[in-house]
Amino acid sequence: MTTHQEIDLPAFGKTTVPTGLFIDNQWVSSSDTKTFSTVNPATGEHFLDFAHASTDDVDKAVIAARQAFKTSWGMNIASTDRAGLLFKLADLMERDAAKIGALESIDSGKGVRIARDCDVADSIACMRYYAGLADKLHGQTINHFGKEKFVYTLHQPIGVCGQIIPWNYPLMMWAWKVAPAVAAGCCVVIKPSELTPLSALYLCDLVIEAGFPPGVINVVPGLGATTGDAIARHMDIDKVAFTGSVPTGRRIAIAAAESNLKKVTLELGGKSPMLVFDSADVEEAASWVAMGIWFNSGQDCCASSRVYVQEGVYEKFLEALKAKAEACAIGNPAEEATSFGPLISQAQRDKVLTYIESGRTAGARVVTGGQKWPKSGGGFWVEPTILADVSPDMKAVKEEIFGPVIVAAKFRTEDEALELANNTEYGLAAAVFTNDARQATRVTAALDAGTVWCNQYALLHPGVPFGGFKQSGIGRELGTYGLEAYTQVKAVHQNL
Ligand code: NAD
Repeated sequence: MTTHQEIDLPAFGKTTVPTGLFIDNQWVSSSDTKTFSTVNPATGEHFLDFAHASTDDVDKAVIAARQAFKTSWGMNIASTDRAGLLFKLADLMERDAAKIGALESIDSGKGVRIARDCDVADSIACMRYYAGLADKLHGQTINHFGKEKFVYTLHQPIGVCGQIIPWNYPLMMWAWKVAPAVAAGCCVVIKPSELTPLSALYLCDLVIEAGFPPGVINVVPGLGATTGDAIARHMDIDKVAFTGSVPTGRRIAIAAAESNLKKVTLELGGKSPMLVFDSADVEEAASWVAMGIWFNSGQDCCASSRVYVQEGVYEKFLEALKAKAEACAIGNPAEEATSFGPLISQAQRDKVLTYIESGRTAGARVVTGGQKWPKSGGGFWVEPTILADVSPDMKAVKEEIFGPVIVAAKFRTEDEALELANNTEYGLAAAVFTNDARQATRVTAALDAGTVWCNQYALLHPGVPFGGFKQSGIGRELGTYGLEAYTQVKAVHQNL
C-alpha cells in the first residue's frame, strides 16, 4: 500500500497524511502488506487504512534504533545537542499546532479546540521540559574508601526502548514517552494505538525536519496482539514503557519477563475517588469533579469516576454536579465550541451503556444522562451521566468504565470516607475537598494513590511525577523521575 493518503481535514481541506511505517527516517509500507482501518468516532464511518507493522518490521525498526544508539545517539552525542533537537521539534509542533489539533480531533473524536489548546499545547510543553532536562542528568561522587579511592556514578541511557500507547491522548502519550527517552539518550520504537495512529505518524515528518539522525525515533503502527506483542517480546529491546489497561499491562510484563527480562514501566487504569466534606465549597468542588469526569468524555485514566460526599452536602453537591453535566458542550468535534465529543468506538460506547444499565438494575439512581446521544444516527456519544446512591459491590463502582459516568454515594465520618475511597484495586489518583487544613493533611496522607489533589483536580505539569499505586502501574512518568526511568546507574570504583 502507499505510505500516504489524502483526507478532507475540517478547516484545512485536502490534506496528505502519512499512513505507512516510519523506520530509520524513511516512510515504508509493511513487509507483509497487511493493513488495518480506523473509524471516525463522530460519524461511525470508515476513516483511513494504515500499514500494519509485522514482526519483521518491528525487527527492522529495532535494528535501526540499535544502530543509531551505537553511532549517532546514546553516548555519541552531546546532551546539549539532544536538547537542541527536542527544542526544534517542539518549535515545529508549535508552528503546526492548528493542523495537528485538527488531525487529533478527527482521529480521536475530541473537540478541535481542546485538541489544539490542551493536547497539542501540553505535548509541546512536555517536549520543552525534557529538552531542558537533557543536559541536567548528574551522577554522584562517593568517598568511602580513603584518600586515593573514590566512586562516581554515571546515569547512562538504557538503550533501545519499545513504547506502546493508548488512544485517549494519542499525542500527549507520544510526548510523555518519546521526550524523556530521547532526552536521556535512548532510541525508541513506538507503537500508537490502532484506533488513533494519525498524530504519531504526522510528527515523523517533523522529526526529519528537526534534523534527528535516522533510527532515533521509529513509529510502527499495528495491532496490540501482533505489533505490540512483538515489541514486548523483542530480545534486543532493553525496556518497554506502556500506557493502557491493566490486562494488557499484565500481558506485557509477562512477555518482557519471558523474553530478555527487559525493564518495564506501566501506566495503567484508575477508579479515582473524590472525597467532598461538609466544610468544602460545594460549587467549586462540583466544578473540579465535573472537569475530572467529563473532560475527554471520561476517557481518562485519572477520571474522577467515584465521588463520596459527606451527608450534610450530598444532595446540594449532586444538584451542582447535575447542572454541570447538563451544561457540557456536547456536539461535533470539528466545531470550536464543542468540549464533549464521542467515545472512541462503538465497542467503547456499548461497554459504557452496559455499565450504566448494570448500575440502574442494581438500584443506582440516575441523576442525569444515561443514554446514548443523539438518540439516533452515527457517532459514539454517551450523555454525561451521574449514578447516585451506589453501593461498593456494584460493577459500575468497582470497575473502570472509561466513559462519562460518575458514581456517587454519601458518607458520615472521615474514616468511612477513607474506607470507601481505598476500597479498590487501583491507586492512580484521588482528591479531597475540605476547608479544614488538618483534615486535608490527614486525608491526603491516607489516600492510596500516586497523585492526590486537594481542593482541585486533574492539573498536570510535565515537571510533576505521575503514576500509580497498587494495580495502577509500576514506575513514574514526568518530572526528573520520568527522565531517570530511561537511564541506568553505573557505579565506577576508582583506585588512582
Ligand atoms: P489497551 O490496553 O487496550 O491498549 C493500549 C495499547 O496496548 C494499544 O496500543 C494496544 O494496541 C496495545 N496492546 C493491546 N494488546 C497488547 C498486547 N497483547 N501486547 C502489547 N501491546 C498490546 O488500552 P486502551 O483501551 O488503548 O486504553 C485505555 C486504558 O488505558 C484504560 O484502562 C486507561 O485507564 C489506561 N490509561 C492509563 C493511563 C495512565 O497514565 N495510567 C493513561 C491513559 C490510559
